[in-house]
Amino acid sequence: MLNKVAVVPGSFDPITNGHLDIIRRAADIFDIVYVAVMNNSSKRPLFDVQERMDLIKEVTNSLSNVKVESSSGLLINYAKSKNANAIIRGLRAVSDFEYEMQITAMNRFLDEHIETFFIMTQNKHSFLSSSIVKEVSQYGGNIHGLVPDLVEDALKEKYKQKLDRK
Ligand code: ADP
Repeated sequence: MLNKVAVVPGSFDPITNGHLDIIRRAADIFDIVYVAVMNNSSKRPLFDVQERMDLIKEVTNSLSNVKVESSSGLLINYAKSKNANAIIRGLRAVSDFEYEMQITAMNRFLDEHIETFFIMTQNKHSFLSSSIVKEVSQYGGNIHGLVPDLVEDALKEKYKQKLDRK
């Protein structure tokens, strides 16, 4: 039987426990999961693509069917190049919904054979985002438990570097 392949795309700047939970659950269902660090967003990232990929690789290394890559083009082209059956997105609050509907409709327009699936986040991750974690971390707040320990250390290091430069 052919492998079922899923792509989990995002900025992952940096990966949080919310992302990780979605990746783990996708890896339970699909044979191969590609985590795609997308590099074409207009956002100015804190971590460069390689750093983001390295963090994801470390925290997913116990999941043997998860592969971490980056892509700077259209997500749908990346998904096609992997022969993906599905794109997986996480859903938090209702506020995610409208944006996700729009992206899903566009991706379906571009390729109707690749289905988008949504995994609802766990309640404890509902209000968790990379941006809020960065905001709090930047001002020295405690983010323990919201991101993997490795990411917590990487954030501390980043902001220390930033402060050092001033
Ligand atoms: P993007 O810039 O594409 O929104 P993100 O890195 O912010 O990328 O998120 C990637 C995916 O992870 C999206 O589907 C997003 O909804 C999901 N996600 C982000 N935070 C959480 C969370 N706390 N719980 C579940 N899913 C999440």
